[in-house]
Amino acid sequence: MSFIRPGHRAEQLVDELCITSAADLDVEAIAFDQGVEVRYEALNGCEATLVGYDTKAIATIRRATSRGRERFSVAHEIGHWLLHRGRSFRCRVDDIVQNYSSEVALEKEADEFASHLLMPTNILRPIIKSLSKPTLQDLQRVANDFDVSLQAMSIRLAALDILPVIVACYGHNGLKWFSRASHVPSKWRLKRLLDEDSFAYDILNDRVEGNKSGKQSADAWFENDDADDFELLESSMPSVSGQVLVMLYLNDIEMFERGYSHYAKKG
Ligand SMILES: [Zn+2]
Repeated sequence: MSFIRPGHRAEQLVDELCITSAADLDVEAIAFDQGVEVRYEALNGCEATLVGYDTKAIATIRRATSRGRERFSVAHEIGHWLLHRGRSFRCRVDDIVQNYSSEVALEKEADEFASHLLMPTNILRPIIKSLSKPTLQDLQRVANDFDVSLQAMSIRLAALDILPVIVACYGHNGLKWFSRASHVPSKWRLKRLLDEDSFAYDILNDRVEGNKSGKQSADAWFENDDADDFELLESSMPSVSGQVLVMLYLNDIEMFERGYSHYAKKG
């Protein structure tokens, strides 16, 4: 049995439906086309459910304050319907990041499907390529165009692997999650707790209102001893639940060369 990546399956569907712009990514219309009726209800204890009967399914989605969140849930349930036919689902996770780090393979597959359905590579890539060293504010505008959350867009950006970025989320207890473009050397290890010199620290501790972006010493972000040899671009923004979302843009090519030579010596 051949296995098609869930993201690839989602992008195939976008192609089949001849969707070529973010504005045409109508997730309810896609659901309808695939035999899924979408209902919105005030669900308790779960984000969405999927119940299938023969060739039809009903996806029940919890009303959310964010439209991006609702759209992601609909896309996630379409993913279950197309990838995991014959089962019913009760998706209890309340944000994509919990799914993202969870052990539940089917939930991860549905999330990957949703991420690619709402942000297909062929539509997103040229938009990202047109941006020069984007900040989170720039990325927020792209997220708005795609009607997805900034968090979902930032994770998708790292997965696209066309910009030298690491995105991460910190709370008062430290690092919640991070996602790194795969060409960024993994030798650069994020600090578990925010450094007092980071803009993110100022935002989390209410020393700065709103967003802050600019040049930053890599030493403020990485545990590595040689981090103070480098500068990067930090863009930080307040996020949900008193957390802060961070995008680090590694614009110093030396950080890549140093990383790879380090590997070579080890290997
Ligand atoms: Zn699910």
